Amino acid sequence: MDDRQFRTAMGRFATGVTVIATEVEGDIHGMTANAFMSVSLDPKLVVVSIGEKAKILNKIKDSRIFTVNILAADQKELSMIFAGQLKEHKEVEFARLDGKPVLPGSVVQVACEVSAEHVEGDHTLFIGRVTDIHLEDKEPLLFYSGKYRSLVEEQPVML
Ligand code: FAD
Repeated sequence: MDDRQFRTAMGRFATGVTVIATEVEGDIHGMTANAFMSVSLDPKLVVVSIGEKAKILNKIKDSRIFTVNILAADQKELSMIFAGQLKEHKEVEFARLDGKPVLPGSVVQVACEVSAEHVEGDHTLFIGRVTDIHLEDKEPLLFYSGKYRSLVEEQPVML
């Protein structure tokens, strides 16, 4: 098994797309991530996995807070901005949830305080204790096999 085969295999797990955001001394930093999962209901915990080279890693270590913004189908450009895939710099407006920076128009915004961190291989897992949540009735952006996708409603079966 080589690295490419492992990446290809893991990319066959269809996911949504999030932007993780944090703030240090008034500077907001975001990063596109799909390694996100709900962990526990009581207490309410989520996890994100951040690569060791990502600039946001030390920022979350400093701030001890982050938000997870589940992107909507019409927010593909935001995913590309926060994955560093656009050449030109674009200004992005943030709103606030529980005082933490969130992306308006996302399907779900989750505000978290870091409750634990675990270094595993070349990634750090941050466990977030959820302090607030905001939902909007929108369709999600999806990611599968290296491409952005959208939900297609199945046709009802006529018998
Ligand atoms: P940078 O590369 O500096 O930031 C990313 C980009 O965001 C830059 O272009 C920067 O200008 C822009 N940006 C940051 N803050 C702002 C702001 N306030 N206003 C405007 N623009 C801003 N990596 C992981 O570690 N874990 C994952 O789960 C993960 N999942 C991914 C899923 C997808 C679908 C994709 C496309 C990428 C994923 N990545 C993941 C890779 C990750 O998004 C990139 O490696 C990213 O560039 C790393 O960000 P950084 O923190 O190093 O910061």
